[in-house]
Amino acid sequence: MTSETREKYEHFKDYIKGLGSLGVAFSAGVDSTFLLKVGHDVLGPKCVAFSGISPSFPKKEQEEAGYFDFYLLHALGEDNLANYEKYGLWDYVKELKSEGKIKHYGISFHDTAALLDEILTDHPDIEFVQLQINYADWEDKSIQSKKCYDVATKHGKPVIVMEPVKGGTLANPPEPVLKVLRDADPAASPASWAIRFVASLPNVMMVLSGMSNVEQMDDNLSFMKDFEPLTADEEKVIDDARTALNSFDTIKCTACHYCTPGCPVEMHIPEIFAVMNDYKIYGDLASAKDQYGWRPGGPKASACIECGQCENACPQKLPIINLLKEVAATFE
Ligand code: SF4
Ligand code: SF4
Repeated sequence: MTSETREKYEHFKDYIKGLGSLGVAFSAGVDSTFLLKVGHDVLGPKCVAFSGISPSFPKKEQEEAGYFDFYLLHALGEDNLANYEKYGLWDYVKELKSEGKIKHYGISFHDTAALLDEILTDHPDIEFVQLQINYADWEDKSIQSKKCYDVATKHGKPVIVMEPVKGGTLANPPEPVLKVLRDADPAASPASWAIRFVASLPNVMMVLSGMSNVEQMDDNLSFMKDFEPLTADEEKVIDDARTALNSFDTIKCTACHYCTPGCPVEMHIPEIFAVMNDYKIYGDLASAKDQYGWRPGGPKASACIECGQCENACPQKLPIINLLKEVAATFE
């Protein structure tokens, strides 16, 4: 990309970010694919793609495709669940299935285990769930990987794993974590530990490893071709790596959410702190800024009016106002 194209691209991203949310009429052509990719990078679950069988969709391609094996309702969460009801999407997928146009449908999900439980109870026809799972987020109080995995398992829904390497950060973990992994097996790549951790979970149907070059594909194939689940000793190595991650000087927020009801600007405080903690651990500013753009939802940290309501409610006695100022200075 030339510097001029890069500048235009960054300007375009800022424009999309300024929209706050985005619906993309997805045709699978170059334009809508590009728009969807940028929208998803910048707005995350607040970017939704709409596609359907339309007169403009080439009939030949419809006939050649025949059907989709797995059809995904994208990025369900508290922010957009009402839209799925409002626009009749649950009925729409059932219709597609009864017409034979899809074989299975499921959801990808980014919210609390309690909400996942509610959705799977209300929609028992859902056949699979795509979840963010990796060893770093496994017991994270905000992302709730383990809790969500347990809920999916309780409902008998197989899991597709996204972000097994946490956006690539676990392929290049901080030195204390690297040392734990290298001491255990100098030949194994950090990514191999991360992917084997999720692939060893009994209710995992598929792992989306997100490779971006041939070397990564070769590495993935080397341990997935004749896959061996983690042994008890290797699980202990993962526990030690997680302990090393937890030793960083992060914001000690427990994601209890006691601070959020009553905030006059509806700040998503624990979600903002979770992104800041990722930055404190992995030190990847570009990735953290990108995450900050969409993951927490709600207003930016700089929108805090310093009323103090949240600090009075926080059982950890965190200096939330100053922490939000630090977040704003780092990411905005
Ligand atoms: S101090 Fe800021 S974050 Fe806390 S409740 Fe008031 S406006 Fe919300
Ligand atoms: S009340 Fe304190 S510990 Fe709980 S979510 Fe808010 S900031 Fe985090």
